Amino acid sequence: MKPLPRPDGKALPADSRVHNLTLVLRKLFFDGPLSRADLATATGLTRVTVSDLVAELLSQNLVLELSKRVKGRTGRPATPVVFNPDAYSIVALDLSDTRNIRGALVNLSGQIVHRRVDDIDSVRGENALSRVNAMVAELVGKATQPILGIGVGSPGIVDPYGNLLAEAYFGWTGVNLADVISKEHQLPCHVANDANVAALAETIFAGARGQSLLTLVLAHGIGAGLVIDGSLVQGSGFAAGEIGHVVADESGAPCGCGRRGCLETFISLPALEKLAGDSPSLADVGWKTGCVLAPIVGALNLDEIVLVAPPELVLGSFLISMKGAITVHTLPSLTEKLDLRVSSLGQDATLIGAAALVSAEELNLL
Ligand SMILES: [Zn+2]
Repeated sequence: MKPLPRPDGKALPADSRVHNLTLVLRKLFFDGPLSRADLATATGLTRVTVSDLVAELLSQNLVLELSKRVKGRTGRPATPVVFNPDAYSIVALDLSDTRNIRGALVNLSGQIVHRRVDDIDSVRGENALSRVNAMVAELVGKATQPILGIGVGSPGIVDPYGNLLAEAYFGWTGVNLADVISKEHQLPCHVANDANVAALAETIFAGARGQSLLTLVLAHGIGAGLVIDGSLVQGSGFAAGEIGHVVADESGAPCGCGRRGCLETFISLPALEKLAGDSPSLADVGWKTGCVLAPIVGALNLDEIVLVAPPELVLGSFLISMKGAITVHTLPSLTEKLDLRVSSLGQDATLIGAAALVSAEELNLL
């Protein structure tokens, strides 16, 4: 459904039809059920155009008519139209835990309907790729709905075409993972950085409707995903959000990257787990995290920061101290509306994010 931009920037009638279909589908996804009259008011399109677009979405099974008729604005009964979350299944993979491949079938509302875990331990390279393809095949076989596509949340730096530009665990640097998986299964495949897909999950499935969101994922490594004005921020080398190796304390421990005291050495999941129950130490690393985030809040005027981490480690002294550091180091106008919270998606944020990536790319939902 995604329209291809014309080189001269002008919209063809077919482009504007795809644009309007997207407009109606997004409205129903985020705000439905709505009647055709309400859709016309909300989108600024005519009733005739909306009816025509809804008919096309009905024929694609992407929306359904509810049987309950409600009184319309003109007094005539109106039939509400609702987004159909079960029109398609999405195959989602989370590769951020390098010891396990986690996979799921996810519906279009981000609900996991079937899940699989494959303990790959130290399997790497081509063999790990075979295990990924085996899991995809298994999940495709379980699906009872047509498959919209395959989404992958991967550690490392990934370009928008699915090329792994830098990947430290599986030995796949230089591999176009999206192409490899897509060709094997003859389905569309989209791959993005694990923290980036977690930010998409918050935006599409978990109710983050603000203009500027940062998702901070604490896993084996740490990373941040940024969605600003409805777009994923990728950066010039597709490494936006790689804040794990920003130095938080020069007197800190040596890091694998060659520096000392990188943020990752303090708040990677293994590092935080060692501090479980130690409130003063959790407050200390929370403060360091806030000091790294403060300039980002200042530069981007963020309105939400979402932590993807075990709540028992970050709720309490870590989060309070992190917020304190951001508040002390920025203007009040930047922080008074800043919402700082732990993701409601828990450890599934990347998995559900991989599905959000497919929804964003194939249905243009972002
Ligand atoms: Zn480092």
